[in-house]
Amino acid sequence: MRQRACFCTLFHKNETPWGKPVCWVSMRMRRTVAQTTAALALAVFLAASVCRAQKIEVTVTPAEVENGSPVLVHVEAEDGASVEGEWLGRKIEFFPARRGNGWLALAGVDVKQEPGPSTLHITVRSAGETYHLSRAIQIHPAHYRASTLSVPPRFVSPGPAQLRRIETERKLKDAVFAVSATRRLWSGAFHLPVNAQPTDSFGTRRIFNGQLASIHEGMDFHARMGTRVRASNSGVVVLARPLYYEGNCVVIDHGLGLFTLSMHLSRIYVREGQRVTTGQRLGLSGATGRVTGPHLHWAVRWQGAYLDPARLLRLPLDQIR
Ligand SMILES: [Zn+2]
Repeated sequence: MRQRACFCTLFHKNETPWGKPVCWVSMRMRRTVAQTTAALALAVFLAASVCRAQKIEVTVTPAEVENGSPVLVHVEAEDGASVEGEWLGRKIEFFPARRGNGWLALAGVDVKQEPGPSTLHITVRSAGETYHLSRAIQIHPAHYRASTLSVPPRFVSPGPAQLRRIETERKLKDAVFAVSATRRLWSGAFHLPVNAQPTDSFGTRRIFNGQLASIHEGMDFHARMGTRVRASNSGVVVLARPLYYEGNCVVIDHGLGLFTLSMHLSRIYVREGQRVTTGQRLGLSGATGRVTGPHLHWAVRWQGAYLDPARLLRLPLDQIR
């Protein structure tokens, strides 16, 4: 189900309570009921013309949002309008839809986000006017699993040299994720990165050796050693090297703050700075880094939020080329 709401920005020029759409025309009609028939007809005619011309429509997919959900935001606005947004402290960057006058953005809710109410803010600039719109979105709790795992002790209690390496790599990753292409590099739907059985491991609360608790921020595939790992969509390789926890890791920037990460590879076939297209071979699956055995860990990161890869694969992005 898709949520739709139609708003007349003439009425809601400053702050709009989404979810309670009110048509300026109907309000105006109520106020002018005591006036002459001719004046009423003129008011309705003028208001209806402006209302149609400046109508802004917003669609959020999926309609029911949970922590970990990727979300497609569609804003239907006039030609020449520019659109930007903010949600849960993250900037939403829109790109023009090829069909109609729409603007689209791929956004989402971090897996660690507390469920509860949130507000999506959108600013539309059109014909010299600025319209601030807001919409209440309830974050429903996702039901992820819990599990305990055993890994070599050095991954739970790293020594001084390993801690130095981990810190160096943390700074490197921060620098990599701080920069993303200012335009969309992906095209169409995202595809499975490997021909192997996926698991529902995203969001699982994990206890390593009874000590360290973490939320699993990616999706594991039962990929045998040496299985081809492919780019799920087009973009630029911004990291391709061995890391302590991630093992041989490839990160692709898909633009506008969206990245996909492939970890624990046995081989890497791409280099940093290289452009890749959907389906291009990135490397081979393996068991490098903090692992209990060979598998592919695949993660989706948007503006610092980790999103459910399985739900990204299901989003209706086919027509976005
Ligand atoms: Zn994993």
